[in-house]
Amino acid sequence: MTSSSPDSSLPLDRLISRRAKSIDASGIRKVFDLAAKLKDPINLSIGQPDFPVPQRMKQAAVDAILENRNGYTVTQGIPPLLDAIWKRLGEEVGWQGPSAERSAIVTSGTSGGLLLAFLCLLDAGDEAIVPDPYFVMYPQLGALTGGTIVTCDTYPDFRMTADKVERLITPRTKAVLLNSPSNPCGVVLRESEVADMVDLCRAKGILLISDEIYDEFVFDDAKEGGRFPTPARYSQDILLIRGFGKSYGCTGWRLGYAAGPHDLIQAMARLQQYTFVCAPSIAQWGVVPAFEIDMHDEVERYRARRDLVLDTFRGLTTVAQPGGAFYCFVEVPPALGVSASTFVERAIERSVLVIPGKVFSHRDTHFRLSYATQEDRLRKGLGILASLMR
Ligand code: PMP
Repeated sequence: MTSSSPDSSLPLDRLISRRAKSIDASGIRKVFDLAAKLKDPINLSIGQPDFPVPQRMKQAAVDAILENRNGYTVTQGIPPLLDAIWKRLGEEVGWQGPSAERSAIVTSGTSGGLLLAFLCLLDAGDEAIVPDPYFVMYPQLGALTGGTIVTCDTYPDFRMTADKVERLITPRTKAVLLNSPSNPCGVVLRESEVADMVDLCRAKGILLISDEIYDEFVFDDAKEGGRFPTPARYSQDILLIRGFGKSYGCTGWRLGYAAGPHDLIQAMARLQQYTFVCAPSIAQWGVVPAFEIDMHDEVERYRARRDLVLDTFRGLTTVAQPGGAFYCFVEVPPALGVSASTFVERAIERSVLVIPGKVFSHRDTHFRLSYATQEDRLRKGLGILASLMR
């Protein structure tokens, strides 16, 4: 009998599914293992905002606990939050709901929404197209659902456009996943680009899923006519997936929402009933006032940091202009003749923590830098990265 764990008599190697074994988190773990050995690293790897949750939201969550609203909620989400979501969607993109055509569901994080959506869409052999570079969860949605994830190489400008996607569509393609502003690049697509993607998906009978977890972090210079370029403006037949964690600094509350075609949202609700049951109740109450809170000052602070990053690397290397989120995807200067992983190891030796591009991509040429870090630390880290490029 074999056992992978010395103190277990169980044949764990046989018991653990191929699905679980196929999920490889070694790339990112290696970075964090290296980082754990550092005393006071300059951490430019963090995927969450560095500002506290707005007081009104904290109070709403505390009130919910004290007022004994700690039990299960209805699967789809508490009515006051669903009302707030529809009000927001009505004002921002003109979606009216709920209706016989359109529904919304509150999910356990944006991740919960993505997982439910892919479970509802993909059977074995079905395909979904996602960008490369990608948010780390995207490729794993294949292993998690049994479907096949097809990556769309978006180098060097990191724009997932309709012409790049069209070539990858097959009779098994069921969905295209768009992420703008993107993780890890921060790139924001233009209105014409998202409109073309909507047209392509409509013509091919494919669902467009728009992961807009960074919708609040869109800088003015990336907006068009003062508006965030979202495909939701061009179609109500897409699946919109958004979150609260990044926008309001409450990633640990695990809260997101999805809105789109009624039958699909109902299918997601059925799966939620037997998996997550409901999104965390106190967090749902906590975010009811969220859309009334003005985050403009915070976003402006992030824009200034983005500019600082771009100024630092100008003339040293290439960074595709990020219009939102809080990441830059920086090319390791080819003249250095090293992979991004090697460059990142050198940076970590100098106590600066960034993530090699291969964690988010099939290529190993760039690194992700998060500027969700105090300005003095950011300046120091940028100085060290720049010196490593010279
Ligand atoms: N989508 C993208 C693009 C992300 O970057 C993240 C988080 N880093 C998620 C989804 C998941 O977010 P949540 O914490 O709300 O599950």
